[in-house]
Parts: sequence; C-alpha cells; structure tokens
Amino acid sequence: MSNNKYKILVVEDDHNIASFIHTVLETNGYQVLLAERCRQGILMVSSHMPDLVVLDLGLPDADGEEFIRVVRVENTVPIIVLSARTQEQDKVYTLDLGANDYITKPFGTAELLARVRAALRISRHSIQASAPGSTFQLDDLVIDYDRRQVSVSGEVIHMTQTEYNILAFLSQHVGKVMTYSAIIRSIWGAMDTGSTKKLQVNMANIRKKLGCAPGDNRYVVNELGVGYRMLDTAD
Ligand code: CA
Repeated sequence: MSNNKYKILVVEDDHNIASFIHTVLETNGYQVLLAERCRQGILMVSSHMPDLVVLDLGLPDADGEEFIRVVRVENTVPIIVLSARTQEQDKVYTLDLGANDYITKPFGTAELLARVRAALRISRHSIQASAPGSTFQLDDLVIDYDRRQVSVSGEVIHMTQTEYNILAFLSQHVGKVMTYSAIIRSIWGAMDTGSTKKLQVNMANIRKKLGCAPGDNRYVVNELGVGYRMLDTAD
C-alpha cells in the first residue's frame, strides 16, 4: 500500500478510542504514534515530525486548543480534531485556530479513513504551492485565477466580484472546512451581525449559478452550523 510511509500522531487519553484509531490506521498501512497528554503530544510533533495529527480536545493536562495554538506557531502539519457533540462551539473555534478538519464522536472506520486521506491530500496540495497563472479544476468546474473567471463544462459563468472571491477562497483551501468567520474575514475584513446571512445568500447564488440544486454537494459541501468545504477531486 502506498500510504505506509505516512506517520500519524494520535493524541487521545481515552484508551478505548486511542486503541480503536490505532488499530484502524495500522491495519490500513499507516505508522501510528500515541500520546495521552497534550504536552507529550506537542513534544512528539517536534521530535517525530508526523505527517498528520489526530487530536482529542479534552486532554488531562491541557485542552486540545492549547495544542493547536502551540504547534501552529511554526508547524503546518494537518490536524484533525476529535470532538464530542457537546463541543459544537469548540469545533468552530479549533478550525479558526488552525485545525484542518474535525470528526464528531462517535465515528466509524470509514469516516476516520476518509478524513485522514483528505487531510494528507491537503498537505500535499500545500507543498505544491500554486504557481502564478494557475487554474483550479474540480471535475467540470474550472477557476482561472488570472482572468478571475469561472466556467462549468467550458461555459463561462457570470459571477459578482464577491461570489468569485468566495469561490476562489474556498478553492484555495480545497478539502478543508472553512468556518463562516474565516470566510467572512477574508472577503469582507470583519464580522458584523449580518455577515453570516450575507455569506449564505452569496453561497446560495453561487450554487445556483454552478447548476447545483439545493442539497447538491457536487463542488461545495455545506458543513451545517460550521462553514463550507470545497471538495477535492478524489472525494
Ligand atoms: Ca479525552
């Protein structure tokens, strides 16, 4: 299997969950490292240089937010956060802090593996920094960054500046959930009370123009209550 070179650090104090993740990942050819505490995990990021971190938010010595804050100072390793359903707010907060994705407990093998594969693709994307004059392509959707032009099956789609900016922003973070506030700050600079509604209206228009009926997640997935995610070609 080609992914056997990937090293994944799992930071989780719950033995049952840690051992479940360990087994699933190892069975699928990944090398797995375990840490039970936040500080131990932070040290292992520098000493073992993992390709990916799976991080529980509730750790005995410090919370997962602390881990992300410290690691993100100088490390871009993809981080998948494990959160309980009661931690909806923490989920958004950790994505804004720099986590790449999240999995809500309880989760199954298929979801874990899909999120891991997506996160590892993100890290490859960021290594191949997009060259100037490049285009983004997802199936029949093409975004030409130079001409600020969007087309589907070769047909140019007319978009407002705001709609284009939102779509381009999502495509530049392909595969990653971008929270409402991250998108809003990038497009309008600051949050105000109407921002989320404004973003949702623009997204509805974008989806309509791209030919997506409500609920059709062909290009962009609506992560309810959290944000939006541009799909990767291999999703
Ligand atoms: Ca825990």
